[in-house]
Amino acid sequence: TLFHIRSLQECLTRVISLTESEATRLGHIIRYQAPEMAIYILMDQDKMIQLILNLVKNAYEAIEDNGVIQLHLASNGSSAIMVIEDNGPGIPSEMMEKIFHPFYTTKESGTGLGLSICHKIVQEHEGTIEVESQLGIGTRFILTFPIAADQE
Ligand code: ADP
Ligand code: MG
Repeated sequence: TLFHIRSLQECLTRVISLTESEATRLGHIIRYQAPEMAIYILMDQDKMIQLILNLVKNAYEAIEDNGVIQLHLASNGSSAIMVIEDNGPGIPSEMMEKIFHPFYTTKESGTGLGLSICHKIVQEHEGTIEVESQLGIGTRFILTFPIAADQE
């Protein structure tokens, strides 16, 4: 199996280094304050990076300019909580239930597959994904994953 105990900090850091130049080019800022204690979960690291990357790319694509994308990571002892938040246009409430459907897109050249892949990856990791959004304020994806049992 490709599942190993890995830190979520490392995944977030990888996504930032993969997308930082695009953020700068688009005029966006990506912020991440890593927690002091490493947070380990059982993961397929490539898939976890793809999951975070899809959410960060959606944030970049949603925001016209002066984008601020904030990544948060925390643990409550049994679960890791990861938040990807943007100050984009938000998602109308009537669209909310469709965004995870395959091929649902509001973009001219979108595939509509990003969030359905995210949902699948979250399920494979026994996690949860929720979205909160306010029009004109922004959107926040909240993910939780069980913390790996045997960590230092
Ligand atoms: P795609 O990016 O190809 O359109 P996704 O599955 O990644 O497909 O996203 C589906 C739709 O959900 C997007 O077209 C967009 O309308 C909406 N969406 C996703 N993330 C955001 C976000 N952060 N802010 C606003 N809308 C979003
Ligand atoms: Mg997408």
